[in-house]
Amino acid sequence: MATDPDCLFCKIVAGDLPSTRVYEDDRTVAFMDINPGTRGHLLVVPRAHARDLLAIEAGDLAAVAHTGQRLAALQLERLGADGVNLLNSCGSAAWQTVFHFHLHVIPRYADDPLRLPYTPAPGDEAEIAAAAAELAA
Ligand code: 5GP
Ligand code: ZN
Repeated sequence: MATDPDCLFCKIVAGDLPSTRVYEDDRTVAFMDINPGTRGHLLVVPRAHARDLLAIEAGDLAAVAHTGQRLAALQLERLGADGVNLLNSCGSAAWQTVFHFHLHVIPRYADDPLRLPYTPAPGDEAEIAAAAAELAA
């Protein structure tokens, strides 16, 4: 299995660095984020090292998504969350800071203070269509 001796999350997966682990199976490990956006904020990682969304093996990506789904249900049931955000950042420009793929599972509570750092606003229709055309080509 791929590991990187310099990777923070590989060290957490191996147990060489401490973490507050809440779930694990043969492909994935889930532990608490040390800088939680809300109460119960979790990270789900594959055991195998992959730097980001493009590098992760498809089976591991599916396993991480499945673990995220299970833990989201637990956040709703046991923490009394009202909703959940799943988030992955791919690349520095997208705010990725740890380069071992991870899925944020962030429980949301009605009226919690967490806000996106941008205000969604209607886009330019032609620009939306142009971007779609480049993606679909
Ligand atoms: P990213 O910014 O790459 O999407 O997310 C990295 C996440 O890892 C951040 O939310 C950060 O709080 C968390 N993190 C960074 N170092 C550690 C650590 O040593 N232990 C744990 N549990 N989380 C960490
Ligand atoms: Zn790693």
